[in-house]
Amino acid sequence: KPHVGVLALQGDVREHAHVLTRLGADVTLVRRPAELALVSGLVLPGGESSVIDKLSRSFGMQDPIKTAIAAGMPMYGTCAGLILLADRIVDGISGQQTFGGLDVTVRRNAFGTQADSFETDVAVPALGETPVHAVFIRAPIVDEVGALAESLASLDDGRIVAVSQGPLMGTSFHPEVTGEYRFHERFLDVVRSA
Ligand code: GLN
Repeated sequence: KPHVGVLALQGDVREHAHVLTRLGADVTLVRRPAELALVSGLVLPGGESSVIDKLSRSFGMQDPIKTAIAAGMPMYGTCAGLILLADRIVDGISGQQTFGGLDVTVRRNAFGTQADSFETDVAVPALGETPVHAVFIRAPIVDEVGALAESLASLDDGRIVAVSQGPLMGTSFHPEVTGEYRFHERFLDVVRSA
C-alpha cells in the first residue's frame, strides 16, 4: 500500500486526500519535515502558489521538499502545485520562489480575468483515449517546455496544460475536483515503482 503525502499548508488538500484514499493509498497531511520523511510521494495541491511558497518557508519545508525532489521522490502538482514544481515562473508575485524540478516555464494566472475559470475536455494520450474533463481556476499555462520535461497535454490552441519529467508531473487543471482519477493513479504507479 503506497504511503503518500499531501502538502497541507493551503489549498485543496482535502480533495486530493479523498482521491488518494479512494485509490487505496495511505495518506498523511504534510506540514512539517518529520511528516515528509514518512511518505514516498507528495501531492502539491491547487490554491495560491505565492501563499504556499511563503508558508513552506516559514514551516521550514522548502529545503526538505527541494531535497526530496533532488532525491527522486515522485510528486504531482495541480495548478498552484504545478507552479511550485516549475523551474521558472512568469508573473509571480515579487520575490516568489518555487521548489523547481520541472524544466518548464509556467505563466501564472495565464487565462486573464475574463476567463478566470472554465471547463473543457482535454486529450491526454498518456492516460488513454477518453479525454480528461478539466477544470481551470485562475490557472497557469506552460509557456515553454525545456529539454528535460515533456508535454502530456495541450489545448486545441496549442497551449500546454500538463507536463511530466521522470517522477514529477504537473497539471494546470484540477482532476481532484471532477472525479478524474487517472492522474492520481499514474502518480501512485510511479510511487510504487520508485
Ligand atoms: N492562481 C493561483 C496561483 O497563482 C493558482 C490557482 C489554483 O491553484 N487554482 O497559485
